[in-house]
Amino acid sequence: MNADLNAPRIQSVAPAGHTGESLPKPLLGTVLAVQANYYHVKLEGVGIGSRESKAGREGERTQPTLPLMLLCTRRSRLKKIGQRVMVGDQVEVEEPDWEGGRGAIAQVLPRRSSLDRPPVANADQLLLVFALVDPMLDPYQLSHFLVKAETTQLKVCLCLNKSDLATTDEREYWCARLQQWGYAPILMSVQQAIGLAAVEAQLGDRVTIVSGPSGVGKSSLINWLVPHSDLRVAAVSGKLGRGRHTTRHVELFELPTGGLLADTPGFNQPDLDCTPEALATYFPEARSRLALANCQFSDCLHRDEPNCVVRGDWERYEHYLSFLDEAIARQEALNKLGDSEATLKRKSNRDGQEQYEPKLETKKYRRPSRRVQQQTLQNMRYDLKDASLDGD
Ligand code: GDP
Ligand code: ZN
Repeated sequence: MNADLNAPRIQSVAPAGHTGESLPKPLLGTVLAVQANYYHVKLEGVGIGSRESKAGREGERTQPTLPLMLLCTRRSRLKKIGQRVMVGDQVEVEEPDWEGGRGAIAQVLPRRSSLDRPPVANADQLLLVFALVDPMLDPYQLSHFLVKAETTQLKVCLCLNKSDLATTDEREYWCARLQQWGYAPILMSVQQAIGLAAVEAQLGDRVTIVSGPSGVGKSSLINWLVPHSDLRVAAVSGKLGRGRHTTRHVELFELPTGGLLADTPGFNQPDLDCTPEALATYFPEARSRLALANCQFSDCLHRDEPNCVVRGDWERYEHYLSFLDEAIARQEALNKLGDSEATLKRKSNRDGQEQYEPKLETKKYRRPSRRVQQQTLQNMRYDLKDASLDGD
């Protein structure tokens, strides 16, 4: 049996005759895509895309072009120690086969960040895309996405697309309103090529994850930023047809600005997945209040406790209360499942330190609405399905 039959197609390989003698050691690269047990690794110190390198190939003999991508397997030693390789990982590659465009991942370098869903290592920021119109900007949905984004501890950038469909008044209204929420949105129109330079400036050489509801123009934006990205999506992921709750196939696209962009459905899941205690810290409005003073009780949930500094006259306080119900319902559902992992959970705080979050006492919380409970259970079913697909 030829294992190569199962291997994904390779994007680009070394020019014939290249031995790799002049390479620095160790050979370092970034994992751009994962497909079954294969890792697409973009080697460091080479140009941006295979298209560019092919264009300059003819007649240029002085500068040998290194392969941009190697299709790698993971050393069995890594498998044995349970070392997962994620999209975005910086890796050491051994035994490159330049002719065949293959290699083996021998080492994963320490990560500066790591997301579970979507599974992306070393991401710097989230680019949240919403539309002003068509679909109409829904403040509650936006708030939900923002809070979910904040739970990642990554930098959150907000883009409002389809500005061409909105009036000047509408644009100004939303900018002012979102400033109150603690965000400075970039107004843009992919269709009219407005505000795209500002988006590119924001991307820079960072690793960015794009997220947002459907229909807002994410694909249009990504296609503008990374022409032909759809080709690789098709090549790597195939037609999965497993719906938007699949987090398995994430891939990174190289940006002309030097950064990487992940287009992933995995982040779009509706559940908030945070503890009731942590929720307030995901609202900039509450953060700024907590920076000035403390609540009387250190475990204040900012509802009706005396001398609470968070409760008050800010627009999204209502959203906070609603999401709190959701977070409590989730905790209670998890407690009922008796899942000790879920109730005593290791999390990284804003400073990147690992900490264990306490198991919560269920008595303390009031009963969430039936709707919230239903939704939480629904989401947990998706989570479990996802988890079973995610295993190695
Ligand atoms: P996605 O579901 O978020 O990936 O959204 P798409 O990129 O598929 O876009 C949804 C629809 O909005 C498409 O018909 C696009 O042509 C349209 N669209 C995208 N950007 C703009 C824009 O800036 N202005 C207008 N008017 N339409 C846009
Ligand atoms: Zn409080």
